[in-house]
Amino acid sequence: MIQVFNPADGSIVGEAPEMSLDQVKQAVERICAAFPAWSRKLAKERSDILRRWFELVRDDKQVFAEIMVRENGKCLSEALGEIDYGLGFIEWYAEEAKRVYGDTIPSHASNAAVVVTKEPAGPTAAITPWNFPFMMIARKVATALAAGCTMIIKPSEETPLTAYKLLEYARLAGIPDGVLEMVTGNPAEIGKVFTGDDRIRKISFTGSTAVGKLLAAASGQSLKKMTLELGGNAPFIVFDDANFEQAVAALVAAKLRNSGQVCISPNRIYVQDSIYEHFLEAIAAKVSEIRVDQGFQEEFVVGPLVNKVGFDKVVELVDEAKSHGARVVLGGKAHSKGGLFFEPTILADLRDEMRIARTEIFGPVFPIYRFSTEEEVVNRANSTEYGLVAYAFTRSHGRAQRLSRAIEAGMVILNSGSVGTASVPFGGIKHSGYGREGSYYGIEEYVEVKYALMAGLDD
Ligand code: NAD
Repeated sequence: MIQVFNPADGSIVGEAPEMSLDQVKQAVERICAAFPAWSRKLAKERSDILRRWFELVRDDKQVFAEIMVRENGKCLSEALGEIDYGLGFIEWYAEEAKRVYGDTIPSHASNAAVVVTKEPAGPTAAITPWNFPFMMIARKVATALAAGCTMIIKPSEETPLTAYKLLEYARLAGIPDGVLEMVTGNPAEIGKVFTGDDRIRKISFTGSTAVGKLLAAASGQSLKKMTLELGGNAPFIVFDDANFEQAVAALVAAKLRNSGQVCISPNRIYVQDSIYEHFLEAIAAKVSEIRVDQGFQEEFVVGPLVNKVGFDKVVELVDEAKSHGARVVLGGKAHSKGGLFFEPTILADLRDEMRIARTEIFGPVFPIYRFSTEEEVVNRANSTEYGLVAYAFTRSHGRAQRLSRAIEAGMVILNSGSVGTASVPFGGIKHSGYGREGSYYGIEEYVEVKYALMAGLDD
């Protein structure tokens, strides 16, 4: 069995099956066997089942939230927020299942019709990370099942308890064996089973860029469709004409969410010269009001980092930045609570050549850089291999328009820190991956377009 630990105190909070490769392969057999019947179900039938899953989970949100606090370390209010976010996808795709429309195209031949349909891609697989143990699974499974695909999912071994709870509720809702399967065990070996099986026609992966590239390369052998939601290095740009208070509040909320362990977390914060010092004071004041604690609290608190590897990486990046001249405005070291808690930290006067500027931090660290002009900051924002999201605050409509075009990212968020919801296409470019999740675009990732020419109609 795989033991699951509470990152807040190291206690064991549960276990998950450590499946053999034979068991994994049997689960793959089941999703392949179940595909024909599931794909032929009426869209309305699939929709009703997804809707039922949505309702059952919605009525038991607290159960899911408490599991997530224990295995992930995020606080209760965040866990509940994540559940609403994830439920939004199940609800959305229960509806979208009914709207997978095709086309008719004016025919190029006489007495003929051209009909375009969208067919379910086939049996599919998904691999998810630990930072959003509920939402990631809800989003991928709901989209796949709505499109008429079956799915096998491998959640993160750090947070499998939320995942298996979701499976339990899926069964209660009438999602049978074979339509949705879940496996846990050796990630690399399970990944090879998925990529090596020709019958799996699509893999959706959220996680690190390194693992995403491995999976994409291996899947190339069978030319699978892929959705890759990978790492980020989000710029957060504050111009001197911004609504200052709004920018401060949005930054602090976006950065401290999940203790900074989010792919869309602001990772390089660029503040314009004339407001630089004032901005540092304002975020320091706001961050100082927020407590660090384990997650069973009414209020928002900054929780622990998920594991020792993540914790050590944050310590290393901060220490290295300090040794290269970073100014510590707040925090800067492990928290006195011990364990995996790290102080919310503000580092100023950073330079683009530092490692912290090129690395996804995944911790409660605000790395602040100074800039002078729009042209300069756009170039600096784009000088990364990643391209997931970028944020900018400005009151100028013209500048907002220019930024939305000039910034290389799958998502450009102006005057807000809020990115994801069921109705928008979430995803990145460059080394942040490809494919989109959410909205109408999400379902396109799980269908194949088929064109039928029906000629000789009046013979
Ligand atoms: P990770 O890549 O280590 O793990 C992600 C998943 O892949 C886990 O289930 C893990 O068990 C599995 N895995 C690990 N090695 C594997 C292998 N060789 N073959 C197959 N599967 C394997 O990432 P993580 O540490 O869990 O998550 C953090 C990363 O995820 C960060 O880089 C973050 O930016 C990224 N992320 C991206 C998004 C997005 O939407 N773009 C969202 C959340 C997290």
